[in-house]
Amino acid sequence: MSRQSGIAPHSSPRLTRSAIQMDNGSPVASAVHRDTPVIMLDRVSKSYEEAGRERAVLHDVSASFARGEFVVLVGKSGSGKSTLLNLVSGIDLPTSGEITIAGQSLTRMSERERTLFRRRSIGFIFQFYNLVPTLTVLENLLLPLELNGRVTARDRTAALDLLAQVGLADRQHAYPDRLSGGEQQRVAVARALVHDPLLVLADEPTGNLDSETSRQVLELLDTLTRRAGKNLLMVTHSPEVVGLADRLFRIVEGRLVEEDVPVR
Ligand code: ADP
Ligand code: MG
Repeated sequence: MSRQSGIAPHSSPRLTRSAIQMDNGSPVASAVHRDTPVIMLDRVSKSYEEAGRERAVLHDVSASFARGEFVVLVGKSGSGKSTLLNLVSGIDLPTSGEITIAGQSLTRMSERERTLFRRRSIGFIFQFYNLVPTLTVLENLLLPLELNGRVTARDRTAALDLLAQVGLADRQHAYPDRLSGGEQQRVAVARALVHDPLLVLADEPTGNLDSETSRQVLELLDTLTRRAGKNLLMVTHSPEVVGLADRLFRIVEGRLVEEDVPVR
């Protein structure tokens, strides 16, 4: 199921559908050319202040990911994996360096622009699902669409279709606490894709699941993002996932080191 043997990341001539819009709602890049790297990190450093002292987590990290690539990020606990995902999603800002997503510099946007950008262009999957407990499965799924504006009948149909693709069409009215961990994570996978983002980020998405359930969630995530031509950047410790990836990076002492993807 490797992407190299499936649809090649560069095989599709189409442009991405995700329009990136700025504060005033006007599209600044209504289409992204397939040759534009989706993620560019240019000498990105991040340090945190701790007890009055600066502690560097990432030093001068540079990398570029092409459209449709599935990139896996590994590294010891505390090495900066979540920090890097939070920088790519614009949740956090680097101490220095520049981050560009599909040609748009995150580091030059205002906070408001970054928030809007994130809502429209990024899907995020967390280790502990992060579903809203007081909303039904379908309501959770519609949330990213509501944050971006009015939800149309067509949006609802697309959301229900996605729910069927993750095998949960019959649970649309259930509340998250009635679902197993694997089912909740499948809802979270659908939620990360429902607004047609450019990029899906997943931070140890199977860290809380047993190995069979993990395998199902990962294959689903791989299939759905590949089918839609989306980039997937995933932090994981699962050796099976590493075999599905197009590229593998390890954070070692604050630097990003590319490794060969092991052949399965
Ligand atoms: P990983 O996800 O690889 O386990 P993190 O990116 O969460 O690691 O954290 C990297 C390092 O940065 C850790 O030492 C962590 O304690 C520190 N760190 C993360 N976020 C903050 C923060 N908001 N303030 C201070 N230190 C932080
Ligand atoms: Mg982490």
